[in-house]
Amino acid sequence: MTTTGEERERGFDHTEVEPRWQRTWDEADVFRIDDDETDPEYVLAMFPYTSGELHMGHVRNYTITDAYARFERMRGESVLHPMGWDSFGLPAENAAEERDTNPRDWTMQCIDSMREQLTEMGFGYDWERELATCEPEYYQWNQWLFKQFREEGLVERQAAELNWCPSCETVLADEQVEGEDELCWRCDTPIEAREMDQWFFTITDYAEELLEDLDDLDGWPNNVREMQRNWIGKQEGASVAFEVGDYGDVDIFTTRLDTIHGATFFSLAPGHPVAQEIAADNEEVAEYIEMAEDADEDDLDVTSGVFTGEYATNPATGEEIPVYVADYVLTDVGTGALYAVPAHDERDHEFAEAHDIDIVQVVEPTEDADADPDDIDVQEAAYTEDGVLVNSGEFDSLTSEEARDRFVSEFDGEHRTEYNLRDWGISRQRYWGTPIPMIHCDDCGYVEVPDEDLPVELPEFVHTTGNPLDAAEEWKQVDCPDCGADAVRETDTMDTFVDSSWYFLRYTSPDLDDAPFDAERASDWMPVDQYVGGIEHAVMHLLYARFFTKVLDDLDMVDGVREPFTNLTNQGMVLGEDGNKMSKSLGNGVSPQRIIEEYGADTARLFIMEAAQPEKEFAWSPEGVQSAHSFLQNVYTLVSEYSEGEVDTGDAGDIADYVAREIDATAANATAEFEDFRFNHALQAVRELVSLLRRYQEATTPDADTFERGLATAAKLLAPVAPHAAEEMWAELDRDGLIAEAEWPAAEAPDDYETERQLVENTREDVRDIVDTVGIEDPQTITLAVAPQWKHRVLDLARNADGNVVGTVMQDEELREQGEAAADFAKEIAGRAQSLDEQLPPEREQTALERAAWLVEREFGAEVVVQGPEEAASDLVGKAGPGRPAIDIEE
Ligand SMILES: [Zn+2]
Ligand SMILES: [Zn+2]
Repeated sequence: MTTTGEERERGFDHTEVEPRWQRTWDEADVFRIDDDETDPEYVLAMFPYTSGELHMGHVRNYTITDAYARFERMRGESVLHPMGWDSFGLPAENAAEERDTNPRDWTMQCIDSMREQLTEMGFGYDWERELATCEPEYYQWNQWLFKQFREEGLVERQAAELNWCPSCETVLADEQVEGEDELCWRCDTPIEAREMDQWFFTITDYAEELLEDLDDLDGWPNNVREMQRNWIGKQEGASVAFEVGDYGDVDIFTTRLDTIHGATFFSLAPGHPVAQEIAADNEEVAEYIEMAEDADEDDLDVTSGVFTGEYATNPATGEEIPVYVADYVLTDVGTGALYAVPAHDERDHEFAEAHDIDIVQVVEPTEDADADPDDIDVQEAAYTEDGVLVNSGEFDSLTSEEARDRFVSEFDGEHRTEYNLRDWGISRQRYWGTPIPMIHCDDCGYVEVPDEDLPVELPEFVHTTGNPLDAAEEWKQVDCPDCGADAVRETDTMDTFVDSSWYFLRYTSPDLDDAPFDAERASDWMPVDQYVGGIEHAVMHLLYARFFTKVLDDLDMVDGVREPFTNLTNQGMVLGEDGNKMSKSLGNGVSPQRIIEEYGADTARLFIMEAAQPEKEFAWSPEGVQSAHSFLQNVYTLVSEYSEGEVDTGDAGDIADYVAREIDATAANATAEFEDFRFNHALQAVRELVSLLRRYQEATTPDADTFERGLATAAKLLAPVAPHAAEEMWAELDRDGLIAEAEWPAAEAPDDYETERQLVENTREDVRDIVDTVGIEDPQTITLAVAPQWKHRVLDLARNADGNVVGTVMQDEELREQGEAAADFAKEIAGRAQSLDEQLPPEREQTALERAAWLVEREFGAEVVVQGPEEAASDLVGKAGPGRPAIDIEE
């Protein structure tokens, strides 16, 4: 659509309008929420990392929550919609290095700039609740919570493998290890793996509850729940002991105890204590273990392993099977040892083939299985399904399930459940994070920093090759809180996922200085009702936040809240115009700043919300942006023409009735779509309403009340998504107050709206067909004749008739009076009687057609006459059916 000079003049100037409304909202405290509100609607976007730049992904994320928050606010809800900053992390340290500044100054600059960009987008946050995780006022509570967790027995020291640069003598984050050769980012020295003790939260204590509660998270996408299930990785199985050489009993964990008779070798993880013992006397094994420990995870080869020269005794058969040390057995999964059954496990099969080990089948398909036992050749490929036992001595013909149950007691094992979930290592050897509030004393070991000494604040940043906290000598040296002797502070800082695991609680009482959050208010305001963010957080952030919430409830800090987020939406990606992910290297990125300047924030917001449902990805489209921009200008122009008295108004009538019903239906429809997060559908409905109002104005002199109500409704329905333009329209309509605080339009669809809409649509379609088929060039009069009452009666009887439609109809005394005609009509509809919809009664059908007649008149440029069954010519009315008026067109 082109913009004419006049329209441009009529439209609004977003560069003037948008900042003005932003200031007005701010001054009117529209987005503030009082502490004494009861259970507000809590709408939250995952808070941004403070990179300094808002990108389109952010814009989409925050437009979704802002639109929803505004929608709920207009519906009369009190809404909590806060914003904060995930502001610790390595990138700030890198940026500080590059720019010769320090992480704090750089981060604060980023925050200022991002806050400004968010404001320019028109996002309505309660800025009084703003928080930044890098502020001591926030991170002191990480430290305090760490101590609470420790008291609960949820903090442990555990060994973990870290990246170590021997030249810089420092631990490196994974992001600091570069390239396939794994070089130190700073000095290009190949890094080494080094095992060091680290701080861990024992999230595994909550594995079962974290898993089980996923079933009740109905408001979460299934794929996220499935990803968490897989991450937790529950396996139910059994453990039994194999005697290994002179090293005694070694426990294995298996989910397939039924296959034990088919075990032809035994494998130990390189880190297993028995493997280490063997290595002490066996050079080949020692070399293999060293090699395996140096290897990267990606180098894992299923067939890599070394024979130890030892044998294990199978408790089921008494046979001795060779013992290998193999990389594919993970030390921290199960027991780090397993018996291998190449006939029934793919990995074992591959290993057995590579090492020339026997493959013995002990399970075959049951009779009712899809597979034919004769088609199974375990020498070729493992058969991994359950079945019935063979080659298992006295246990042959047991089912796999029976065998699994029986073998536990038979071979002195025990039932056992294992999880893939590991404890959460929170130690980071970096500066820009929360200092872990521990002190190490040579005599007392690790001692907590007393509460009165919290927060442990970060010392001045120093540029160093290693961890700046390690280099902060003065900061590091303290007296032991227990014995007073010289002691040293912990120099590790916390994983930034700790910061984001409870920030949603802090928003409820962001300034509280004697607790992380107000327990009573948090209990009332939580859980978050709508949480929106990227799918990349499906596992870590969302799992850690769930873990924290459960622990906090167990600490009596959030009364009975065991899940933090009731509903979760993962917004899809905004792709570049070329359909690829936006990236610097492809040069296909679109800067929000540029769009705001050129078209305004509302255009960006409207385009993004119209382009697709929140979960779907979509490609940036200049045409789409243009269309959103023109639409907003057009609605505004329509409003201002009306308010300037340029729209001649007249009396109410059939057309006004029609438009009034459409207004109500649009409000009802848009409301339902907003509730379901299908903003694009809601916005489509608004576009249709605006187009209808245009046609109304063109067709006749509209009724002022109806027309104005239509404009006000369109403005209100647009307000969540295009808030500045909507305020401007509201002001043009001379309404009181702000549209952001106006009442959402009543959302009841008119009676029989769908039936009537279908009737009108079918009728227009039928007229179109006739005009096309007959080839009518210039129709003068279109007569629509409504079917008589008795046909409606036939329809009703037919719809409810059980089988014999014609018989049922003809038994009806009233219809018998219609004679042959009733029988004919009954025959006509008998075949599809069950699938026929209920129709409006004749007089309502006539009213509906009269209301919609103007649309037919406009479309065909003809006069439209709607006739009741009494007034219409009998040969015409004879052709009419319920919901299908007879049509006569005169040229
Ligand atoms: Zn280095
Ligand atoms: Zn001490």
